[in-house]
Amino acid sequence: MSEQAAPKSKEHYRALDIAEDASQEEIAHQYERLKKLYQPENIGDADARAYAAQKMGQIEEAYAILGDPARRAIYDGKPLIVAPDDPEVLYCANHPDTETLLRCNKCGKPICMKCAVQTPVGYRCKECIQQQQNVYFNALGSDNFIALAVGFVVSAIGAPLAGMLLGGFGFFGLIIAFIAGSGAGSLLAQIIRRSVGRRRGRQLPLFALLGIIGGVLIGSVVFLFITGYFPLFNITTLLFTGLAIAAAYPQLR
Ligand SMILES: [Zn+2]
Ligand SMILES: [Zn+2]
Repeated sequence: MSEQAAPKSKEHYRALDIAEDASQEEIAHQYERLKKLYQPENIGDADARAYAAQKMGQIEEAYAILGDPARRAIYDGKPLIVAPDDPEVLYCANHPDTETLLRCNKCGKPICMKCAVQTPVGYRCKECIQQQQNVYFNALGSDNFIALAVGFVVSAIGAPLAGMLLGGFGFFGLIIAFIAGSGAGSLLAQIIRRSVGRRRGRQLPLFALLGIIGGVLIGSVVFLFITGYFPLFNITTLLFTGLAIAAAYPQLR
């Protein structure tokens, strides 16, 4: 087999003049060596300089891929699904001019390196990733507002009541707040998740959080007008609501 007919996938190894089983260290070393050799600034003769510049371009292109173990593995065709009996050259579905060896392992469509997304189960196209996320984030448009409203109402009633009850126990109340705060937050998160049919949304935790904080503040102000007692002005309520919010928020995601 002549040099010309060698498979296209070896071209970068030829550009660096190195064996296909070379280690990463050998590749890096060879790249440094060639870079010094072909540095156009070091060459006086104009024709030789033009040749060196062209050569340098190939070397840089080759090293950008072979110098990076992940990109090299893709280039070598290692983690790819390549149909072994399929002699036709693949072209990226999004970039018809880009040859590739890579296929999305979900839909099988050819994708170039720019279009590939690495996942724990292999390379996938962006469209399949998007689809997966849409299955995961299945919230309806109204769910954000339901989460906000439920978070608001429950916190507006719960936070001042908890503050008043626990405040009456003095130091003992502080200990109860410390123990019960996270539990109350988990309960609140479960109530909100149930109210939106356990669907998930990208913005949903944020809306719920806004509802909860708004509920704590406005509920406390209303409570002040009714009873003359502002429950947020004591460390017990602050501790309780702080722990509850810190426990609720991660569970809403
Ligand atoms: Zn796909
Ligand atoms: Zn592409």
